[in-house]
Amino acid sequence: MELKIYNSLTKQKTAVSPYNGEVSFYFCGPTVYWFQHIGNMRAFFVMDTMRRSVKYLGYKINHVMNITDVGHMTSDADEGEDKMEVASKREQKRPEEIAAFYWNACHKDMQALNIEDPEHICPATSVIKEIIAFVQDILDNGYGYITKNGVYYDTSKYPSYGKLGGMNQNKKLFGSRIEVDQEKRNPADFVLWVKAKDNHIQRWDSPWGVGYPGWHIECSAIGNKYLGEHISLHGGGIEHKTVHHENEIAQNYAKTGHEVVDIWFHLEHLMFNGGKMSKSKGEIYTLSSLEEKGYSAMDLRLFFLSAHYAKPQNFTMEALNSAKESLNNLKKLLLKHKNGTNLIEKQKIMEYKNKFAEYVADDLNTPLALSVVWDALKNSPASADIYNLVIDFDRFLGLRLNEVKEETTNIPEEIIAIAEERKIARNNKDYATSDVLRDKITSLGYTILDKPKNEYELIKK
Ligand code: AMP
Ligand code: ZN
Repeated sequence: MELKIYNSLTKQKTAVSPYNGEVSFYFCGPTVYWFQHIGNMRAFFVMDTMRRSVKYLGYKINHVMNITDVGHMTSDADEGEDKMEVASKREQKRPEEIAAFYWNACHKDMQALNIEDPEHICPATSVIKEIIAFVQDILDNGYGYITKNGVYYDTSKYPSYGKLGGMNQNKKLFGSRIEVDQEKRNPADFVLWVKAKDNHIQRWDSPWGVGYPGWHIECSAIGNKYLGEHISLHGGGIEHKTVHHENEIAQNYAKTGHEVVDIWFHLEHLMFNGGKMSKSKGEIYTLSSLEEKGYSAMDLRLFFLSAHYAKPQNFTMEALNSAKESLNNLKKLLLKHKNGTNLIEKQKIMEYKNKFAEYVADDLNTPLALSVVWDALKNSPASADIYNLVIDFDRFLGLRLNEVKEETTNIPEEIIAIAEERKIARNNKDYATSDVLRDKITSLGYTILDKPKNEYELIKK
């Protein structure tokens, strides 16, 4: 079945075309200067779902994700300080140590969420040579110029600049950046290579002086290195549409003389308290903070699956709670089918399979794909055929359903007694005691999950 994805550039659902038998897929990865929150994890979940859809529908894949460990300013529009330098000063560590630490933390969360590793994971600092060569090509082809601060892309040379974000280069959005460098020719021009100030830690030799790459060039250089001049699919968060991806398109064109990416897709944000969940606003949850509250990575994955990637998703604890309950129900139904002896007609199984694949292929319609799972589980007599069907669907869902086993453990009396004691403390608003008792329960290998009306649930870890 053909996979069709909404292309943000042409505003049409477009069939994904493989190159040399493989779908080539690039996704803009994390900037590793701080812990990644569950909003970031939604982005990587979408990346993974895209990857799984390609594989589920029978294509081969070659997938690349960059790690930004240099050049990303505190504003996406090249202003402010480099995020890695800020973190390096904050923690009194070398930028390499910062990058290694936060990438490991991010990767651990990605693995917990069953996000498959791309074929290539590439830190920007590992391809400085390729970046310099790319910038040189842009200059040689007449799309760049050198100022006292660095090398800039001349957006007036690329007439389609602004098409993706629906902007034209003279629009106000870019206006403020002119203050950064008076030698810039056009407000929208962006930096490809920055000449390093004396106190800048990350620095490499280049034909234009000692410095470091701008943020946007890394993705063009890494995409080119691993995927070549034709990329089937390229994605990232919606905020990348107007600046970062616009600049990638311009860079790619300057080097190759043609558009490199067939389909640009963008995921909408995870929202919290009426705005985007973001580090700068400080209102964030990480996966581990949710795990401490008794939720699992798979609860969060089911929560993510329940919304379409191109729509904003609102995060609330109530919504996560219902995802948790849904996952428990799903597991119970699955186990009912596991040892079921009824036979299901092949044609019925095919109907479910076709419907599921149709929804996957239609711009990753995860909520409708889930509805097929529920339909099959709820409306069939207990049957191993249904169990096997849903395990097959899980190649796309990634909920680790093949690991679901009968719960054999009952909660010991001792744990229930502590939980009851904690309930009394909470009734008395004695939260200090309640926290101590929670820690005690955790140390004994159980998680306590608070429910409305001071009820609770105990789960073996
Ligand atoms: P960063 O580490 O800030 O470069 O972000 C890594 C990825 O997370 C990017 O693709 C961002 O677009 C994405 N992202 C950041 N905040 C959110 C959010 N609240 N919801 C969904 N994706 C986000
Ligand atoms: Zn990128």
